[in-house]
Amino acid sequence: MQNTFKKTIHLELTTKCRLECPKCDRTIALDKGTLVNTDMPFELVEKYASNDEYSKFTLCGSFGDPIYYPRFLDIIKTFKDNNKTVDIFTNSSGKKLDWWHELFSMLDPNDKIWFGIDGLEDTCGMYRVNFTEKDFHFAMQLMKIARHEYGLNPIWIFIAFRFNEHQVEEAKMRAKEIGIDFCLRKSSRWDKNDNLMPTNKNLISIKSIV
Ligand code: SF4
Repeated sequence: MQNTFKKTIHLELTTKCRLECPKCDRTIALDKGTLVNTDMPFELVEKYASNDEYSKFTLCGSFGDPIYYPRFLDIIKTFKDNNKTVDIFTNSSGKKLDWWHELFSMLDPNDKIWFGIDGLEDTCGMYRVNFTEKDFHFAMQLMKIARHEYGLNPIWIFIAFRFNEHQVEEAKMRAKEIGIDFCLRKSSRWDKNDNLMPTNKNLISIKSIV
């Protein structure tokens, strides 16, 4: 019998980002002076996009945020022209509204856009260094547009920290108000006596080695 199982593939499109989250591998490399600013060759991404073996592409960044890939919209078009599903993980800052409209118009309800926002307007930049209150309000607007104007699936992904643990319920409520899903992420990346670690043990991953 022919194997029709299709694979998901995770691509790291770029090492670019405008934020400097302290526990991100990119920031660690930046601090050590070992970060190489680079992008995947467009032709290589195209090759993956047209490969029948893969049905879904996760565009996430351990070393960069995918939206800063220089030809991000072109590559999304290529994925969609090849009937692929995409999961985009982003901090969502630094792009204009027109750019987002163009992106949203290419996506469909099977795709997901994960907006990484760790806090509310007064805390969102405490871990996501360079992410501002203005970026927060813009991200809320974008998730609303994606959901209500384009029928897409934006998801607010919120990592619990000590500085935002008191805001989890409020954030869930705001997500509900704008009709989007909320995903609470419990991190395991804690050092001993880490002052970013939530005090509420229920907000810490059981994998944590603290
Ligand atoms: S937004 Fe993502 S890629 Fe950018 S610094 Fe933060 S964790 Fe790293």
